[in-house]
Amino acid sequence: MTSPYTQPLVYFFGQGRADGTAAMKDVLGGKGAGLAEMTNLGIPVPPGFTIAAPLCHTDLETHQFPPWLRSQVETSLQRLEAATGRQFGGGDNPLLVSVRSGAAVSMPGMMETILNLGLNDTTVAGLEKQSSNSAFAWDSYRRFVTMYAAVVFDLAKAPFEHRLEEMRLAAKVSRDIDLPVEQMKALVKEYKAIVLKESGHPFPEDPIEQLWGAIAAVFESWNTRRAIDYRKLHDLPDAMGTAVNIVTMVFGNLGEDSGTGVTFTRDPSTGARGLYGEYLLNAQGEDVVSGTRNVEPISQLKDKLPQAYSELERMARVLERHFRDVQDMEFTIERGRLYMLQTRRGQRTGHAAVRTAVEMVSEGLISEEEAVARIPPNDLNQLLHPTIDHAAALDLLTTGLPASPGAACGTAVFDADMAEQMGRRGEAVILIRRETSPEDFHGMIQSRAILTARGGMTSHAAVVARGLGKPCVASAQGMDVDESGRKFEVGGRTIREGDWLTLDGGTGRVYSGQAALIPPEMNEYFTKIMGWADRLRHLRVRVNAETPADAHRARDFGAEGIGLCRTEHMFFEGDRLIAMREMILAEDTEGRKSALAKLLPIQRTDFEAIFRAMEGFPVCIRLLDPPLHEFLPKDAEEIAGLARALNRTVEHVTRVTESLAETNPMLGLRGCRLGIIYPEITAMQARAIFEAACTVASRKGRVMPEVMIPLTATVVEFRQQALIVRQIAEEVFRERQITVPYLLGTMIELPRAALTADEIAREAQFFSFGTNDLTQTTWGLSRDDAGRFLPQYLERGIIPDDPFQVLDEAGVGKLIQLACELGRKTRPDLKLGICGEHGGEPRSVAFCDDLGMNYVSCSPFRVPIARLAAAQSALAARGTMDRTRATV
Ligand code: ADP
Ligand code: MG
Ligand code: MG
Repeated sequence: MTSPYTQPLVYFFGQGRADGTAAMKDVLGGKGAGLAEMTNLGIPVPPGFTIAAPLCHTDLETHQFPPWLRSQVETSLQRLEAATGRQFGGGDNPLLVSVRSGAAVSMPGMMETILNLGLNDTTVAGLEKQSSNSAFAWDSYRRFVTMYAAVVFDLAKAPFEHRLEEMRLAAKVSRDIDLPVEQMKALVKEYKAIVLKESGHPFPEDPIEQLWGAIAAVFESWNTRRAIDYRKLHDLPDAMGTAVNIVTMVFGNLGEDSGTGVTFTRDPSTGARGLYGEYLLNAQGEDVVSGTRNVEPISQLKDKLPQAYSELERMARVLERHFRDVQDMEFTIERGRLYMLQTRRGQRTGHAAVRTAVEMVSEGLISEEEAVARIPPNDLNQLLHPTIDHAAALDLLTTGLPASPGAACGTAVFDADMAEQMGRRGEAVILIRRETSPEDFHGMIQSRAILTARGGMTSHAAVVARGLGKPCVASAQGMDVDESGRKFEVGGRTIREGDWLTLDGGTGRVYSGQAALIPPEMNEYFTKIMGWADRLRHLRVRVNAETPADAHRARDFGAEGIGLCRTEHMFFEGDRLIAMREMILAEDTEGRKSALAKLLPIQRTDFEAIFRAMEGFPVCIRLLDPPLHEFLPKDAEEIAGLARALNRTVEHVTRVTESLAETNPMLGLRGCRLGIIYPEITAMQARAIFEAACTVASRKGRVMPEVMIPLTATVVEFRQQALIVRQIAEEVFRERQITVPYLLGTMIELPRAALTADEIAREAQFFSFGTNDLTQTTWGLSRDDAGRFLPQYLERGIIPDDPFQVLDEAGVGKLIQLACELGRKTRPDLKLGICGEHGGEPRSVAFCDDLGMNYVSCSPFRVPIARLAAAQSALAARGTMDRTRATV
């Protein structure tokens, strides 16, 4: 019968030229492709063959092997016998094999492998004779029966291991291999009895039957609970399937001149050059990783088996040169001879990724473009923030939204005043609030990190923390904060004031206790990579910043201007807040104007400082945006204080506060609607901006202000607001006898604005996409309320990503694209940019680049990430890199 498959089902390797190559991962799996490629490089690999991964699903669906597979496997077995001069099932010189899983994408430890297959009561005697080493033969047999029982008969390993340990203790030996041979023999007998008793089947003596049992079991290990979960977690397709590799056994348990180990070609945590790994003498594969024996660092192999060690070093160099990347290798030494059993791309930390890429360029292994292309942008986080040292045990309390990256330790504090006092004394505190409000700002500044039970990625706590560059976890799950009781409860545990906590704002994890932190390090390697990235990218990268300190920090990170300066954050402090509240509580235009007059010099000073900090770069200032009640006091004590300060009755303040409350403030009186209803606010802000700009310009500073009108829905709103801004600009320029070029544009954050972008572009000189609000309004979804169901949506695959973290290209992205096209049709030189959290998310950055935007703007610590992502996007557009590569 001829096979209906157009491709072979079985691929040979380890002798001559292999049937496969590294490029055939989809068919051979990563392990099989690596074995084939190593063969072709002349690297010593024990001969064997790979059964193609597509057969996995045939097996899983039909539970039987197609006859043409049987015949191809049998032919390959004969070829293996010829290559090794041994016989499968042969009594004198038995051929033993391992049966190993291996999918296209590595799933470490998720699937099964069986070693020493082919042993039975006859062949074990052959092995004893052939090796003149009975301990070795029976040790191998014992291992085989254990693995086979576990993998094929699905029996627990514990009873087997338990008996082994008992025997070892009784014999007073520490290594399995040192057990007296008689005991090993007894053990194998016992093991087989366990198999019969537990599974109802006798242990198969026929090697061919063993082989098919193992092949089926390896295929089926594709669908174990843990393998399925792993694929879900890492977003891997179930359709991939695993290949099966049948590999001639080489033995690391043949004596003290034999051994086995795993090693990286460079240190995976620092990137330092040189082998980094572990090994064991007189041992077999799984011993190294199973933790049953104390492994030795690979450097010691140099003294123990110098020849094999230098051969291993040579293999590392050959493989790195060939694959042009760090390799993670598995090897076995049989009586002094080195065999390579696996090689794959080595996983690494952000630090190692950057250092390795830079050093490989200087070694001539890769180009600068490749170095830039292969660093996952988000890995830079590890170089920009402290990270938690996961080497030590951690006690996870809860998880929340990763609202602002970085890790920090501190003692729990439940109010801002106390946080401020302690922080000033230099004590490490973490401010914990149900949710933060402007009144907490002074405490947030002095805290190491912020933890809240409520609020989303755009909550006050999150936005302020990102601006301050402090870690923040928001909406921590199951967290019940008792602020007056100075404690919180989570998962049945209570954390009180003064208890130590560690928080990772990059992952959203909150730990009890004080974990060790690894400090950030922007070293020479980082500087090199970023320099290369900047030469490659077209997209500009700006920062969202409203303080000079942020602006300075962002410049250090390479920001080329401010893309979003939120003016409201400037009102959240001390005197400003009082003047702001006075303005809000004013009963008429006159009252409002007099309050605004107090705010004017404050704003002007702020803008001057910002312009100076960003000299030579554009600064985009957004006019007042949030609903006014956000500035008002919330509890009775504060209302009373405000009433005293403004010389008003408590009733009056309460009444006005209540009258400003809205059912749906995000869709209420906010954005440019405020400026339409209270034009004097817009006028004051415009005056502050232009006066500040003139002051800096008159001292020969280069200022490039951009005035941004928020939440525009119709061009008429824009026109009215623009009129005020332009009038004030003229006035100020006349008064100051100097003209400063400026741009006037709008935020696009409502679907209607996107849909009528052609009309708006007639008036507006730039668009900045406010993707946080645009996502909320496009989805009809409030970010702060989404926590109740968004996790389920993600879990059930209703949506692939959180649209607030990764730009929803299919929906929100389509609106953005439409707005870009419509806008540029009206005004070809329309400046386009994006602000909001997506501005620093690598995939969203690529999306903006593809649309031909001028810039992205993000929080300070994401600036380097956006620079790298923009460079990768430029490379992808040139076809130099696969867009998906660096981000997986
Ligand atoms: P995993 O994918 O879990 O790493 P492997 O199939 O790579 O499983 O096997 C684990 C270990 O078993 C290998 O690292 C190696 O030490 C050992 N091993 C596998 N096949 C052989 C073989 N043919 N000869 C000697 N050791 C082997
Ligand atoms: Mg392996
Ligand atoms: Mg907005």
